[in-house]
Amino acid sequence: MIDADFAQERDDDFEELAVESENDEVLSALQKEAVLELEQITKALHLLDCGKYGKCLDCGKPIEPDRLRVLPYTTLCKRCAT
Ligand SMILES: [Zn+2]
Repeated sequence: MIDADFAQERDDDFEELAVESENDEVLSALQKEAVLELEQITKALHLLDCGKYGKCLDCGKPIEPDRLRVLPYTTLCKRCAT
C-alpha cells in the first residue's frame, strides 16, 4: 500500500516537471522571437536615420508599402524575402 502511494506521488511529480519544462521552452522561444524583433526594429531605426528606410537591402528597390504596413521593420522586399 505504501509502495503504491509512493509510485503515484512520483508520477505526479514527473508530470508537473514535464509541464514546467514545456513552459520554459515556450518562454525561451518567445524571448528569442522578441530579441530578434528588437534587433530588426533597431536596424530599421538605423536605416531611417541614414535615409535608407523602406528600401530593400538586397536589391535596393523600394519595399512594397503593403509589406511595410505588415512588417514595418523589414529590410527586404517581397521578392528578396522569399
Ligand atoms: Zn529586394
